[in-house]
Amino acid sequence: MADAAFECLFCSIVAGDVPASVIAEDERTIAFMDINPATAGHALVIPKAHCRDLYEISSDDLTATTLAAQAVALRARDALGADGVNLLNSCGEAAWQTVFHFHIHLIPRYEGDPLQLPWLPAAGEADAIAAAAALLAER
Ligand code: AMP
Ligand code: ZN
Repeated sequence: MADAAFECLFCSIVAGDVPASVIAEDERTIAFMDINPATAGHALVIPKAHCRDLYEISSDDLTATTLAAQAVALRARDALGADGVNLLNSCGEAAWQTVFHFHIHLIPRYEGDPLQLPWLPAAGEADAIAAAAALLAER
């Protein structure tokens, strides 16, 4: 893992070698401001231990990172006056992941904010939903 950490931007933030606006930290996680905020208060929550993505993260680190994201969400609500939050994780290039150290985006949302997600609610096609469900279902 040392090689991956050496190359990893977010490991460099954890190590203090790359500056970041850190807003929270505990034994397993760190949260800092995204340099390209989608909305006011957009933050990233990461495990300190390097792992590439959702497929690889340990359950302990996933639990800790999710709980840390919840804490930031509550502060976004209470300190920023956010009306809601989106949590986003991108896993894999096809899902727009650009930094390959697991992270949860904490995106505060405000009534009427201009953020648009790139999918539109659309009527689902029942057969396609059923086919995907059959493939996804636990066996
Ligand atoms: P993703 O595209 O889901 O992998 O998210 C990576 C995020 O990291 C993007 O939203 C970037 O704006 C953010 N980012 C990249 N470099 C830095 C940095 N040095 N400090 C804080 N956020 C960063
Ligand atoms: Zn890393």
